Amino acid sequence: MSTVGVIAFQGDFHRHLQVFAELGLDARPIRRREEIAGVDGLVIPGGESTTIGMLMDRFGLLRPAIDAVAGGLPVMGTCAGAILLSREIVGTDQVRLGVLDAVIERNAYGRQVDSFEAAIAVPELGDDPVTGVFIRAPRFVSVGSGVEVLARFEDAPILVRQDRVLALSFHPELTGDYRIHRLFASMIVSAGVSA
Ligand code: GLN
Repeated sequence: MSTVGVIAFQGDFHRHLQVFAELGLDARPIRRREEIAGVDGLVIPGGESTTIGMLMDRFGLLRPAIDAVAGGLPVMGTCAGAILLSREIVGTDQVRLGVLDAVIERNAYGRQVDSFEAAIAVPELGDDPVTGVFIRAPRFVSVGSGVEVLARFEDAPILVRQDRVLALSFHPELTGDYRIHRLFASMIVSAGVSA
């Protein structure tokens, strides 16, 4: 059984744990550095990227997480998690992992509109669109040549994959449609096969 760890300091980690458990993975909250070594995949949830990054740093998880991803550990970042994965965050030098060759802009959909839903076409996941729940969501301003854009909203990339790194602007854990989680689970399985 694959093991997936969800960084569990702040944000919507509970729901991710439930979804992965429902999909049959061994899903574990991660709060200590040693726990990273025991997982086959890592998730950084939505929440507040400055808070999650600061706590990962303070509790010594930042460097082990960066090293594990460099060593081939699959990682998924949603919303704040996508911000923390990105190499460059517009206008801030806040703490991050920086493992994804992308520039991302925080709160890119305006302040008044705190939250909205949109039907997002993700050809890789079939004909049915995914319902994207955007909560003070970021958007990718640019991505490197090694980054595949799996979905866009209003022309901007919002779901991208770079090898074993999956990052998205919205919250896939809130809709009952688990295709994004299944996609990440399949990345964990194929990483295990080729490891
Ligand atoms: N706006 C938040 C940030 O910049 C992200 C919001 C979210 O994860 N829903 O960290």
